[in-house]
Amino acid sequence: MKNISIKLFTIIVMLMLLTSGGYLFYKFYADSKNVTESLLEENIQVNLLNMKYFLDKNLKENNIDQLVAYLDNRVHSNSIIDDIHILDNNKKLLYATDRDDYALHKGIQCLPISKIINSDIFQQECYSFSVKLFDDLTPYYYQTNIYLNRAYLDSLLKDKIIKYLTLFIVNFFILMVILWITINKLIVNPLEQLRQFAYYSTKVPKQFLIQELESIRYSLDLTFKRLKEEQKELFNLSTKDPLSGLYNRLSLVEKINWLISKSKRSDAQFALLFLDLDNFKNINDSRGHEFGDKVLQHVSQVLISSVRDNDIVSRLGGDEFVIVLPDIEDNDAILEVIHRIREALNIPVVFDNYKYHVTCSIGITIYPKDGRDVTELLKNSDIAMYKSKDLGKNNFHFFTERLNDEIQEKIKIQRVMVSALEEGNFKLFYQPKVDIVSNKIVGCEGLIRLIDPIVGLIPPDRFIHIAEENNFIIPLGEWIIEEGARQLKTWESTPLKDLKLSINVSGVQFKDSNLLSTLENAISTIDKNKFEIELTESVLMTDFDEKLEIIDKFKALGLRLSLDDFGTGYSSLSYLKKIPFDTLKIDKSFIDDLENTKDQSFVNMIVTIADELNLEVVAEGVENKKQLKYLKSMKCEQYQGYLCSRPLPANEFESLFLERECP
Ligand code: C2E
Ligand code: CA
Ligand code: CA
Repeated sequence: MKNISIKLFTIIVMLMLLTSGGYLFYKFYADSKNVTESLLEENIQVNLLNMKYFLDKNLKENNIDQLVAYLDNRVHSNSIIDDIHILDNNKKLLYATDRDDYALHKGIQCLPISKIINSDIFQQECYSFSVKLFDDLTPYYYQTNIYLNRAYLDSLLKDKIIKYLTLFIVNFFILMVILWITINKLIVNPLEQLRQFAYYSTKVPKQFLIQELESIRYSLDLTFKRLKEEQKELFNLSTKDPLSGLYNRLSLVEKINWLISKSKRSDAQFALLFLDLDNFKNINDSRGHEFGDKVLQHVSQVLISSVRDNDIVSRLGGDEFVIVLPDIEDNDAILEVIHRIREALNIPVVFDNYKYHVTCSIGITIYPKDGRDVTELLKNSDIAMYKSKDLGKNNFHFFTERLNDEIQEKIKIQRVMVSALEEGNFKLFYQPKVDIVSNKIVGCEGLIRLIDPIVGLIPPDRFIHIAEENNFIIPLGEWIIEEGARQLKTWESTPLKDLKLSINVSGVQFKDSNLLSTLENAISTIDKNKFEIELTESVLMTDFDEKLEIIDKFKALGLRLSLDDFGTGYSSLSYLKKIPFDTLKIDKSFIDDLENTKDQSFVNMIVTIADELNLEVVAEGVENKKQLKYLKSMKCEQYQGYLCSRPLPANEFESLFLERECP
């Protein structure tokens, strides 16, 4: 069904009311007309019949004068009667009022009064009756015509109709206007207000009088309020991190972008602080995530209260936070914020009866100096943060180009390393160890080289620490052990068969539970006494007892053990006592400056101790004959250094061994 508006509906209802009102009015009119008519009729009938009687009587008595007076009076006093004519036998007018001409009534049909009862006096203009008299025995008649005043009779009804009709119409219109105004005010306008409210949901309409509309308005109002709340919640969810209430990554990026465009215009700079909690993973693992969440919430509060109102604090996820400090003029302002944060974090927090001390590492970048867009700024501050972790945590570090180079190098090396192992780009080089008395090469140290087809030769200083960081040293170390053992095996059938070979084992390799079996397998077919492992003191610095256990197992395999870089560590002598070393390698730094008497006595002392403990001694980094002379005088047994040769590929090393002696 086609829908209609309330206004149209109202008009239809009003028309229906008008029609039914009109009908009722007509019925009422018809009824009242009937009543009026019958009353009038009765009245007129009685009048006329009275008159007939009176006329009858007076005409019979021939009392004309009295009759005239009476008729005159009647015509004048009764407005219904227009005229009364009395006609004699000859139709001669016996009486006519002077008001009206006889001719005026000509042509009007008169109805015998005997039929008055059944006639409609409003249609009939004239009634007549005859009086029969006798002149002696001759009868003669007087005919009386009574003319009714039609105009008056009509006016009697018409006035009433006009009166009632006017009353009806006026009332009806007043009613309609009132109805129209009321419906508009109470229904149409509120509905329109509701519509607008529902559409724009801005201004809440005032209460309505109509109950149903009011309840709709009330529900709409409630719904919109709830919608607004939900909208707000949704907005918060999309821009805020639910755990900490801080901005999330998405809104951080948005805010930084905005700040960049603002800073571009005003030539301002801003700082970005990348915070990472120290050892948070441990806390999460040992105390549970709920505890971890409390720590994160605590840190969030600390950060918020340590910065200014217009600074931006956000949580990137996990234990990473980013603070943006707009309009920074110098580093002092940044340092002050860092100081405040560290001071506040320094106060230990107690959760679940457990006291926790939060520290964090911070990396700092400054726009535009350290990055021109969000990605670069975040990346570089992350790099700086890692640097401060490297520096021992609970620290901060500004981003520098050098740091960036370091990272770039690291990324490059990592990439190169992984493919190098698969593609055979690692090579073990060999540096001779020379017997100082006989000048003969008695052994060698295997030193790793990475020869990338594009980058060229990469020395171990550039990749070993990276390989240690990401545990790549474990597969690489395995390869080195196997390659060294393979080389020794190859040499077994050559003049190099008596050479000892040492390889370096990094501390990280100790974590590998397969290390022992790798070694065992590698040396299973060679003379174990020719295979030596070089360890630095730094390897032994942590978890000493655990490592000692592993070292004992090495020894049990029959391997030789060498203490590398001796003299650079802290408690060298106690290590010497506890660990069954076979060789001591005096660090190059003492050899470099052998003309210095202090270094001389130090080297001397080491040689003496080694002699006492029955250890072989190898001096590292011997580059000239002067150094060699000193070593010889100190009775140092072996040396390793450029004086004889740099580390060489296996074939070159073999040639060296065969072709010439070292000094
Ligand atoms: P390191 O074990 O102390 O090795 C001795 C280093 O001194 C070698 O550097 C060697 O080339 C260098 N050298 C020897 N004689 C001289 C000299 O007369 N003058 C100078 N200036 N240097 C001399 P390289 O091969 O670059 O190795 C550096 C370090 O890398 C090694 O120090 C060692 O800690 C590590 N490394 C090398 N190869 C391996 C490996 O296969 N495994 C492990 N874990 N580390 C390795
Ligand atoms: Ca070494
Ligand atoms: Ca060394």
